[in-house]
Amino acid sequence: MKLFYSAVFLLFGLVPSFAQAPISKDAPGVWRSVPVKEISGSRMVAITGICDALGYRWQWDRFTQRLSCTINTTRLSFIQDNRFYTVNDKVFQLQSAPVRHCGALYIPLQIASEIFGDSGDALRLNSSTGTISASKSRFSILSVLCDKKQNGTLLTVNLSDSLPFDFIYYYPNLTLNFFGGTIDTQKIKQGRVGLVKSVSAVQFKESAQISVILASQIEEPEIDYVQDTKTLMVSLKQLKPVTKPVKEKAAVTDIQSQKIKTIVIDPGHGGKDPGAIGAKGVREKDVVLGIGLYLRELLKMKTDLNVYMTRDKDVFIPLSERTKFANNKKADLFLSIHADAVPGNSKRKEAAKGYKIYFLSQAKNEEDKLAAMRENAVIELEDRPQNYSSLQNVLIDLAGNEYLRESQDLCILLDQKFNVSLKKKISKLHLGVGQANFWVLNGTYMPSVLIETGFISNVAEEKLLADKNFQKEMAKAIFEAVTSFQDKYESGL
Ligand SMILES: [Zn+2]
Repeated sequence: MKLFYSAVFLLFGLVPSFAQAPISKDAPGVWRSVPVKEISGSRMVAITGICDALGYRWQWDRFTQRLSCTINTTRLSFIQDNRFYTVNDKVFQLQSAPVRHCGALYIPLQIASEIFGDSGDALRLNSSTGTISASKSRFSILSVLCDKKQNGTLLTVNLSDSLPFDFIYYYPNLTLNFFGGTIDTQKIKQGRVGLVKSVSAVQFKESAQISVILASQIEEPEIDYVQDTKTLMVSLKQLKPVTKPVKEKAAVTDIQSQKIKTIVIDPGHGGKDPGAIGAKGVREKDVVLGIGLYLRELLKMKTDLNVYMTRDKDVFIPLSERTKFANNKKADLFLSIHADAVPGNSKRKEAAKGYKIYFLSQAKNEEDKLAAMRENAVIELEDRPQNYSSLQNVLIDLAGNEYLRESQDLCILLDQKFNVSLKKKISKLHLGVGQANFWVLNGTYMPSVLIETGFISNVAEEKLLADKNFQKEMAKAIFEAVTSFQDKYESGL
């Protein structure tokens, strides 16, 4: 079953090609007052004044006396001396009709702030002075709207600027990452609408994330980006139940079933490299060796796999040697076992907890990038660290990417097993599955994953990871995921 989709999109800004109205050059976050006039005893504001302050396009049609404004995907239309106005062709009513004054259409202040207040930008009404000021949103992700449609749910993300983004779907999570994006985490929130259970926002140092929790499984999301309006549209459609199992079965024979014969277990670090060290002195290299040895025992006892370990004692092995070892053994699976740690104060150490399983790819967010940097830091301890420097700017090894799908599958199976068997003891870190550029996974010619079993920098998890019983339970969960993976691939499904 398809469970996991991800993709990266790069968008390049184009020069705007409209010229109806001047675009405000005001910087985001800067408040600019909009001229207000007293007309027939009430404080009124020019609609075009608001548009100019916020950089919205507007157009005046003198024949129909209609003023149209475009805010991202929303089109507002006002008619002189007419109480009806439209929002995307839906008709609404004003308390009083817009009036023409000195060549512009005016509406009461209060109404203006209500109508334009939803745009993602900000209008600030000062009722005591009777003035209004407008500010371009400081955020590059302006709004997220959910609409229930006949055949699914449409998620619309309005941006102030074209941003490179990617998405990852792993039920029930659909995550959109915007690189270099900024988002108002207070404002971007949404409850249940159609297939969407909730929407929330996370601001990372170098990216912004929209996190959607889905109410039910969906087909692969369809994503469209409209350059002109800087709008990202994500179509969500309910996953159709498989109605023709017979046909599915027939198709299976086309897929080459693959026998999994050899597995390499790679306990991280060792020897002069202790890996992460906890406050109580627990060392990553000992924890991961413990788990690795239990895993080997289980696999040898219960399967007929050839099982190898990159190390089964406390020795130092360079990262590239580990990869080479797995390739030489013609391994069908490569499992690297680690424990993570964060630097910083006790509050931060307490907050960082949980397991996460990674496959090799470019990191999508700050958290995954940092995890990879911490694990890659061992290169500094190696005799010839310069061996890696030339790789620094090289993109992911294509040979490794050949097994991307399988590696993702294995990650998902591991996450599922952990989620069931270890749930009472350890939580998952965010999605439980991530991707980043770990050197130890780079250049392996087989499905490869890296398991961050937990945070040794977290007091509770340090204790847990040092516990032999927990190490056994974790080894058992990994063992179960490996056998599930074996079943899945050997049956050709
Ligand atoms: Zn490690």
